[in-house]
This record gives sequence, C-alpha cells and structure tokens, in this order.
Amino acid sequence: MNLLKEKIYRGDRISPEEAVELFAWDIIDLGKAGDTRRKMAFPKEEVGFIVDRIINFTNICEAACTFCAFHARANLIEPYEMTMEDICAKVEELVAIGGSQVMLQGGLHPGYTLARYTDMIKTVKSRFPGIYLHSLSPAEIAHISRKSSISITDVIKALKQAGLDSVPGASDLLVDRIRKAISPNKTSVDEWRNVIFALYQNGMKTSATMTYGMGETNREKIDHLSVIRDIQDITGIIRAFIPWSFSPANTGMSHILPATGMEYLKIVSIARIFLDNITYIQAGWLTEGMKLAQLALTMGANDMGGVLMEEVVVKATGITTRTNSDELINIIRNAGKIPVQRDSQYSMVRTF
Ligand code: SF4
Repeated sequence: MNLLKEKIYRGDRISPEEAVELFAWDIIDLGKAGDTRRKMAFPKEEVGFIVDRIINFTNICEAACTFCAFHARANLIEPYEMTMEDICAKVEELVAIGGSQVMLQGGLHPGYTLARYTDMIKTVKSRFPGIYLHSLSPAEIAHISRKSSISITDVIKALKQAGLDSVPGASDLLVDRIRKAISPNKTSVDEWRNVIFALYQNGMKTSATMTYGMGETNREKIDHLSVIRDIQDITGIIRAFIPWSFSPANTGMSHILPATGMEYLKIVSIARIFLDNITYIQAGWLTEGMKLAQLALTMGANDMGGVLMEEVVVKATGITTRTNSDELINIIRNAGKIPVQRDSQYSMVRTF
C-alpha cells in the first residue's frame, strides 16, 4: 500500500497536493477508498432523501452569468416574477404530497430590497408554519445587502427573524479566476466566505455545493474543496456537500463538452476523502442521472437530496430528469442501502 493510501485508510486528513494525486487513481481503488471514508464519517447504511420543492420566484437577474440559462437575459425563459399568491399555491401543492422543505430562490432582481424578501418569508411561514425554509443563497444575501445598504450580518438577522431557517451554500466554483470569467457580477470567493461567517454568527446552518466542468484545472477543483474544508473547520455549519457537473447546453458556454460520468464519480470519492469534516455528501441525480447517482452511493455519497417537486434553473439547460419518493426508495434499496425519508436537519422521518 502506498503512503497516501495508508493515510486515507487510517482516516488521516490529506493535503490539497495529495488530493490532486487522487485524480490519477484507478476508479475502483478510488471508489473503495471513498466508501471506506464514508463508513468512518457515517457508519450506517442508511441513505436519506427529503420531499422538497424549489420555487424560483423570479428569473430577472442583473448578474447575467455566462454559465446560466435561467436568467431572463439568456432569452430562453420570458422574464417573470411570482406573486405571493403564486408562491403560496406552490407551497400548498408540496404540503399536499407530504413535503417539508421549500427552497425559495431567484435571480438578483434589481428592484428587490430586504423588505421584499422578509415579506415573502413571513407570508410563507405564517401560512405554512410546518414548512422548513432552506432558502435564498449567498449571492442573494450579498445582493440584498448591497441594494438595501445593510450589512450582511444584519440582513441575515432580519431574514432569520422573518422565519428563514437555513441557507443553501450555492457555491458554484470557489475559484476567483473562473468566477471573474463567467460570473463577474456574482459574489467573489471572499464575499461567499463572508456570508457563511455571518450565517455562523447568526446561528444558522448551510450547505456547500460544487459546479465543476467549467474550464477549471484539477488543482482548482481542490482549491474549491479547500475553501469549504477550511470554513467548515471554523464554523461547523455545513450540513452537506453537493457536487454536480456544469450543464453547458443553452448557456453562453455551450461550446464546452459536459463532464463525464467518470469525472463525477471521482469528484464524489475525492470530496468524501478530502472533506473529512462534512457528514453528508449528496448524490446528484438531477444533473448526473439516476443510475450514476446510484453508483455514487457506493463510492462516498450517503444522501439522495430532495425529490425536487419543481426545479427550473437546471431544466433551462435542457435536463429533464424528474423523480419521486417511490423511485428514490427503489434506487436506494437496489444499491443495498436503507431508504430513509429525512427532514431538513437530517433527522429520520421514516424508513422504508
Ligand atoms: S446563476 Fe444566479 S446570479 Fe447568475 S445569472 Fe443565473 S440567476 Fe443570476
């Protein structure tokens, strides 16, 4: 056994340089190492999922990122803004199927200030007190702070008081070279960090994601993971890590070839080994497809995310994968795992 392999199997923390080496490993060896580290982080053979819905309340966005097909200026979806009634009708549909979590997310609308967001959150919370709002994003919080001339910490305080429960990490790729090229009007890496710290100071939880396959090097992929591992060491508020490959169709980067399945599985295993301070790694069925997501459950992932009753942003790139509880239960069980419906805090609701 080489030294790096020994380190991984002992459960030691690996360095960024060692993590880069893992991209050259044989996929079976890497997958086994990823699964070994998954068992150290989460010894149960349960795999959770949540019944949730994303409500993208507007696609009007002043950032106009090159990698995004959802915003109105990409000219694929007509500009729209949902009314409070539209939003509540969608939450009602989720409640009707036993759902528990809503992700309210929108473009960076030039006219929306803090009051618009606190009203939206208060309205949903007062009408649906049982619904957990895992909503907005670091980019939206930074946007509200700029538009309202209120500090990020105070924005988060106000959103929390209005009823916001937690905030998805929506990290894209935390590499400024890439961000400057494809999303210069969105948050920088430092701004992303500032929002996560402010969530921590306000006693709120988050997650971290990774969108790879946007022209970055393997070292930059690990730089992204390093930002996440470092901030998690300090805050401990990242409940889950969710990697997915960039879907180039219909975006301003449609000339890029999509990342392959092998790359996805490597990312899952490497993330599991490197991110030794995060318990849950989600298998991304939406972008990678059900069969690859199922395989990821044997290489380091231990959660299937949500059924996502509605999703518009990824759909805009032409991806049409849909699912429901029955399909997720079947996929999880067929992978030799125990399907568990969970809540937003990763507590079990029921097993199947
Ligand atoms: S990724 Fe977000 S911030 Fe960027 S254009 Fe799309 S909606 Fe706007």
